[in-house]
Amino acid sequence: MNFLEETINRIKKSNCSTDGTFFQAVEEVLESIQPVLDANPIYARHSIVKRLTTPDREFKFKVVWMDDNQNIQVNTGYRVQFNNALGPYKGGLRFHPSVNNGILKFLGFEQIFKNSLTGLPIGGGKGGSDFDPKGKSDFEIMKFCSAFMTELHKYIGPRIDVPAGDIGVGAREIGYLFGEYKKITSSYEGILTGKPFMFGGSLMRPEATGYGCVYFTDEMLKFAGLADFKDRVCTVSGAGNVALHTIEKLYALGAKPVSCTDSKGTIYDPRGVDLELLKDLKLNKRVSLEEYCTINSDAIYTKVEDYPEGGHAVWNIPCDCAFPSATQNELTLIDAQNLVKNACVSVSEGANMPSTPEAIHLMQKNGILFAPAKAANAGGVAVSEFEMSQNASMSKWTYEKVDKMLEETMRAICKRVHLTAEEYGMDGNYVHGANIAGFKKVADAMIAEGI
Ligand code: NDP
Repeated sequence: MNFLEETINRIKKSNCSTDGTFFQAVEEVLESIQPVLDANPIYARHSIVKRLTTPDREFKFKVVWMDDNQNIQVNTGYRVQFNNALGPYKGGLRFHPSVNNGILKFLGFEQIFKNSLTGLPIGGGKGGSDFDPKGKSDFEIMKFCSAFMTELHKYIGPRIDVPAGDIGVGAREIGYLFGEYKKITSSYEGILTGKPFMFGGSLMRPEATGYGCVYFTDEMLKFAGLADFKDRVCTVSGAGNVALHTIEKLYALGAKPVSCTDSKGTIYDPRGVDLELLKDLKLNKRVSLEEYCTINSDAIYTKVEDYPEGGHAVWNIPCDCAFPSATQNELTLIDAQNLVKNACVSVSEGANMPSTPEAIHLMQKNGILFAPAKAANAGGVAVSEFEMSQNASMSKWTYEKVDKMLEETMRAICKRVHLTAEEYGMDGNYVHGANIAGFKKVADAMIAEGI
């Protein structure tokens, strides 16, 4: 049995059966870093892989709250503090019925390397709950957030662990969580990022992940000697924070984004997505994308159940650049085959691990430039760290300053990943480049800090 198989077997034995995505994430990183481990026995001597694949701490707690009908509801809350070799634990909170400990471990594990790639002093963590915000009143959201923070506040702090948003957790939820923390502790401090601007949020935080992903892709296209975004047709999945701001930045750079999706279906708007309409439907009215076609009859709506199983309509739309920005494993082998067939040039992951391993392999084999999530979507956490810096110094940076720093950070990550892949003889392989560059920094810090 080789080292990779041995490690995966060990992790499988010591983790529960809901950890499929966690094994998938670990396997990908281990495959990439094998040459680094072979060339540097010091990492084995310090049991770095074993230590890195075991979270420092995992919290699981009961969240009890009362709905609008006076019924008492019970959910489960989690926080996984994975690794703080480079700084306080940092990573989002996800509120979605699919949340379990395994998904959060996968996200927390990925976060270690992503945060390392930013070059900023932040470690990796993740948290959330199986609470479903859909269909809940504002008051119910507030009640749930308060109950969640009643427990979470014990584990976080500006120098300990600083959560942010993720699926189902936007500025509204962060506001309620922050308010409850303040009430419990009487302390006004930066324990969350993604806060509204009026009480300590950073300008550009909502835009950061989507804009950052586009900056990264722009740089990647340049490295490959390809033309920029002007007139490029782009497909985007998702209709949340990441997708909306990806679409916005693509328009700003002259591209034509033609799609978006939600959990029920796909919109294909050949003339270009109507961003104002999309924002109104998703941010204000919070309704299904199907409504888009009742207002814009040129667009085509495909329901999830009307598309052959195993694939997704959005990846069968001809495009130059694709941006999977909804959720994990949403781009499968069938989807990758369609992207290759349609001569797609690049795929950049706005969401966390949206492409399956088989899909990534096929895309890379066929020359599609592939930007993995831990590099391409690091803009969100980078601006979260900028928010921490502003909170610590009680200052406010301008929109222009944050945008400039975000752009520089994303282009620098792209360069580091590109050069690392080159150094290891894997030119253009951004998966290996990101995993190796992210790993080395954390591993070296762990060695320097002792056991
Ligand atoms: P939002 O909650 O704002 O939006 C999520 C979008 O994805 C919605 O359109 C939602 O559809 C869709 N979606 C969620 N789950 C599923 C599913 N199981 N199947 C199909 N569609 C689904 O989340 P974000 O935009 O913030 O996050 C999207 C992705 O980006 C996630 O993977 C997240 O981890 C990652 N990410 C986010 C960052 C951020 O700054 N927000 C930072 C880095 C990564 P519906 O409305 O129908 O539920």
